[in-house]
Amino acid sequence: MIHVHRFIYNPFQENTYLLYDETNEAIIVDAGCSDDRERAALTGFIDKHHLKPVAQILTHGHIDHVMGVNFVWEQYGLKPLAHADVVPFLENATEQARMFGVQTSKLVLPDQFLDEGDHVKFGNSQLEVIHTPGHAAGHLCFVSQSQKFLLSGDVLFRGSIGRTDLPTGDYDLLEKNIRTKIYSLPEEFVVYPGHGPETSVGYEMKSNPFVMG
Ligand SMILES: [Zn+2]
Ligand SMILES: [Zn+2]
Repeated sequence: MIHVHRFIYNPFQENTYLLYDETNEAIIVDAGCSDDRERAALTGFIDKHHLKPVAQILTHGHIDHVMGVNFVWEQYGLKPLAHADVVPFLENATEQARMFGVQTSKLVLPDQFLDEGDHVKFGNSQLEVIHTPGHAAGHLCFVSQSQKFLLSGDVLFRGSIGRTDLPTGDYDLLEKNIRTKIYSLPEEFVVYPGHGPETSVGYEMKSNPFVMG
């Protein structure tokens, strides 16, 4: 049984997810903690529940999703796992941050990469990797088939979709990936997005004004 805990971090109100199961092994998704209070919320929860983080994974490399990457590396010895196309974003994190009026230091880079069809394992659980560029190059979503949920990053939100006006954005590609890789999942799948509240595949197919199913 996977537990999904959400933290809302940094000036962009980004959702960082901590997933853990009955073994207490955990993975951190899109570490966005950006100050001492936010970092203490993450470590405090991990300590309180006696969790052991075994991986940190990234949906994509936008600054709001990576502001805590170095902290997780320093705290738990975990380099980020991401798609290879995320590396240029991480290398440019300082410039990205400046563009959005925030600050970050040089980020640690992945030394292993994820791509479509890979599985991220923790405890007795696993997430399936799907490649969903369009909002940004190298964007991944993570699917739990057994527990019927999807971590959608900045691809799909409740009632909205990711912006495509930033570098490497591609509206047609985003729409195609939502239709073929997300709306093809069963309707009851819960969607945990990178911003805002959770939703479901079926709800978005019926009511999302940007991409109707
Ligand atoms: Zn983004
Ligand atoms: Zn975002």
